[in-house]
Amino acid sequence: MKHSSLVQKPEEQIQMVDLKSQYLTIKTEIDGEIQEVLDSTRFIGGNKVNEFADNLKTYLGTQHVIPCANGTDALQIALMALGLEKGDEVIVPSFTYVATAEVICLLGLKPVMIDVEYGTFNINAELVLNAITPKTKAIIVVHLFGQCSEMDGILKLAKEKGIFTIEDHAQAIGSVYTSEDTGSKKSGTMATIGTTSFFPSKNLGCYGDGGAIFTNDDVLAAKLKMIANHGQEKKYYHSVIGCNSRLDAIQAAILNVKLKRLDTYCQERAKVAYEYDRNFADIEELILPERIENSTHVFHQYTLKLVNGRRNDLIDHLKKEGVPAMIYYPVPLYKQKAFAPFTDVDNLSTTEQLCKEVISLPIHSEMKEQVQEYIIQSVHKFFNA
Ligand SMILES: *Cc1c(COP(=O)(O)O)cnc(C)c1O
Repeated sequence: MKHSSLVQKPEEQIQMVDLKSQYLTIKTEIDGEIQEVLDSTRFIGGNKVNEFADNLKTYLGTQHVIPCANGTDALQIALMALGLEKGDEVIVPSFTYVATAEVICLLGLKPVMIDVEYGTFNINAELVLNAITPKTKAIIVVHLFGQCSEMDGILKLAKEKGIFTIEDHAQAIGSVYTSEDTGSKKSGTMATIGTTSFFPSKNLGCYGDGGAIFTNDDVLAAKLKMIANHGQEKKYYHSVIGCNSRLDAIQAAILNVKLKRLDTYCQERAKVAYEYDRNFADIEELILPERIENSTHVFHQYTLKLVNGRRNDLIDHLKKEGVPAMIYYPVPLYKQKAFAPFTDVDNLSTTEQLCKEVISLPIHSEMKEQVQEYIIQSVHKFFNA
């Protein structure tokens, strides 16, 4: 950025995610795909959904893709398929979106919330190990903000202890983890089961709700599919209690168009992130998002830590400048009223600190240079004042 010349405030309103600009770049193709579904009147199931499941299977390099209604359902169905019993413990990060832990409680299981690393916002094997008891049956790993957790250690530990793993990669689809032992794998394909969300603002987002479940295990895949479809083995024969969770054909058609571009979208986000990094490196009060060697980062969020205790002032300042900023997440999960009956954790120091320090800036695949320069300038203005 040229510090000497002042960047003009962009005419358009700056947004955290710019879905409109993205839509306009693919409008012809998207509109055509939606029209095709309308003409077919095949709104649930059918070609488009199967096509998308196949495309995603190829993209991720996994054996099975089971599309479902949203990322929260994906997590719930994953847990239901593991055959857990009431009171079994599921280890989950304390610093994540509510959905990850909510489903554990819904199923009568016990969430064991653990602290995360300060640098990456993710859990690691050491943090998991301290929380394992004889009742631990599963670990939900979240690749928060777009970078994989250190899966090698977590998977090794889980295997040793005979514990299932679930990868919630709602924020990290497209990222690649390079294992010391097994080489490079896409996020969501390493654990017993992977889950994701196609909520519109996710890196691979549809135009409504959507989600998917992944596994390399044939038996589990059959079970997951059955649970997502009313526990139905064949039509009108129900062998287990399931739910109704489907990706509809219009969403699948949209996702087919966007999946082809996912890698580009992720690269564009990473470019924006590096530009932020480069320009904020000299601000002492800001800690840049840490990268680990074994994972790429697809930057669902660009999340800084502000260590001078003036986060609210920064947010107010940015707001006056017309720059949105968000706090993901302001409250540790175990401090949410809803979780009080389910957890006995009351202080995980890194999570507490992160909730006070994090701030996420606008990042998306259509960020214009001038807009980013303006955002950077606005941040500098605050620290130079
Ligand atoms: C978005 C998200 C979910 C939930 O996805 P929905 O499709 O909104 O249900 C779950 N986990 C994480 C980490 C998410 O970011």
